[in-house]
Amino acid sequence: MSSLSSRNDWESYANRLEIRGQAFIDGEYVNAVSGETFPCLSPIDGRLLADVASCDTDDANNAVASARQVFEDGAWSQLPPAERKKVVIRFAELIEENRDELALLETLDMGKPIRYAKAVDVYGAARAIRWSGEAVDKIYDEVAPTPHNEIGMITREPIGVVAAIVPWNFPMLMACWKLGPALASGNSVILKPSEKSPLTALRLGQLALDAGMPKGVLNVLPGFGHTVGKALALHMDVDTLVFTGSTRIAKQLMIYAGESNMKRVWLEAGGKSPNIVFADAPDLDAAAESAASAIAFNQGEVCTAGSRLLVEASIKDVFVEKVVAALKGWQPGHPLDPDTQVGAMVDQQQLNTVLSYIGKGTDAGANLVCGGTRVMEASGGLFVEPTVFDNVNNDMSIAREEIFGPVLSVITFDTPEQAIAIANDTDYGLASAVWTSDISKAHKTAKALRTGMVWINHYDGGDMTAPFGGYKQSGNGRDKSLHAFEKYTEVKATWIAL
Ligand code: NAD
Ligand code: MN
Repeated sequence: MSSLSSRNDWESYANRLEIRGQAFIDGEYVNAVSGETFPCLSPIDGRLLADVASCDTDDANNAVASARQVFEDGAWSQLPPAERKKVVIRFAELIEENRDELALLETLDMGKPIRYAKAVDVYGAARAIRWSGEAVDKIYDEVAPTPHNEIGMITREPIGVVAAIVPWNFPMLMACWKLGPALASGNSVILKPSEKSPLTALRLGQLALDAGMPKGVLNVLPGFGHTVGKALALHMDVDTLVFTGSTRIAKQLMIYAGESNMKRVWLEAGGKSPNIVFADAPDLDAAAESAASAIAFNQGEVCTAGSRLLVEASIKDVFVEKVVAALKGWQPGHPLDPDTQVGAMVDQQQLNTVLSYIGKGTDAGANLVCGGTRVMEASGGLFVEPTVFDNVNNDMSIAREEIFGPVLSVITFDTPEQAIAIANDTDYGLASAVWTSDISKAHKTAKALRTGMVWINHYDGGDMTAPFGGYKQSGNGRDKSLHAFEKYTEVKATWIAL
């Protein structure tokens, strides 16, 4: 269907697109019980995309009741895995069939380049759903090594009602990493997208229904964190809460669970990932290209952004020069132009945060090597240049706090021990990368890094087969791979005397 090959094509598609802002509950689009809405503005040019239902406690109650009822009915939860598989795979196909619309919604809503909305977000979302569907009739339970006169069965069962609260940086992709295993396992789900990016999630509700999921199996509640997000997190009839977002809110969700029904809480939170480049890296040009994309891709709004570049002192000057040169290919452009690599920041608040960290870096005495300013302001959009600070000390706030924008901190080291110490000197533990030709140094460093993911001689690798998630204050539990199913099932031990 892709006659959409220019910015003009996408603009005219955008102008005729019908955008729904209602909540999706029990198989229908509905207004919030209160009738309240909030404006969904595009960060590309400030245009109003839709008035979106501002859900709250009453809507959460309705969605949880619907989700609970269908779970108890068994129309989904007790379907044979091979049957659920067919419907989940059909859901993935519908995402693929609607890829242009979904990519456009994502770009208009959160400002990312259309090429990546399609090639990364929509592609990855469909892949996550399909992979989970394909897996579900191939997962076996266990039989315990019992004495001759007993049988011990260890089985996994769907857990019930799952609330999924997701962020705005990869709205549909983060949702689908959770929806795949949650739905394939037989649960009912209430998806709460970020107030900054509700549009694709709302569309997914209809596609799931069209794929054959009974009503109530997937509900979508747009609205704010402190209203409908909190209502779900405190709900006495939500069994599991899965979350992707900031560490600050992740901690709050653990408190809500403790204050309510001790629902299981699984958290994918923030990061401040070290990208360690040794002088013996196999290809410094490739490492520099990779360091540039690790901070500029998705406007730096990536939980695994390579935001701390740790460079061996002997190559620092030449390497930083290469990174700055590579970043010339990562300058912001109009997100609907298919050639654009870097789009708009998600909203004014996020742009302000990024600019304020740039100010903090300068104030702390770091050396601004490139970038540092807002650009393309006349477009009415929220664009900022990729920014590099050199001479950063790991104690500075730009090295400790997650900026969630295209701001790179360069820190030098002399020995592998120093590199590891600096890399691990952080509250976070999501990802890290190591560049070296020395296989022994690569493995020793990888083992010493306290992160859920380690990349060697590349950045941001992995696919649905590998678990994704962090150590320390980057969270618990994993998305993707068969490990993700652990979050959506309870373990039952059934012991039989013969
Ligand atoms: P955020 O924590 O502000 O919000 C995330 C979600 O939580 C949103 O839907 C929001 O509405 C909701 N929320 C906010 N307050 C709430 C409350 N009191 N109760 C219930 N829900 C509440 O994060 P964000 O700004 O949307 O996303 C950026 C963050 O996400 C970054 O920290 C980033 O590192 C993280 N992230 C992590 C991963 C990962 O897999 N580890 C992936 C992507 C993004
Ligand atoms: Mn938006």
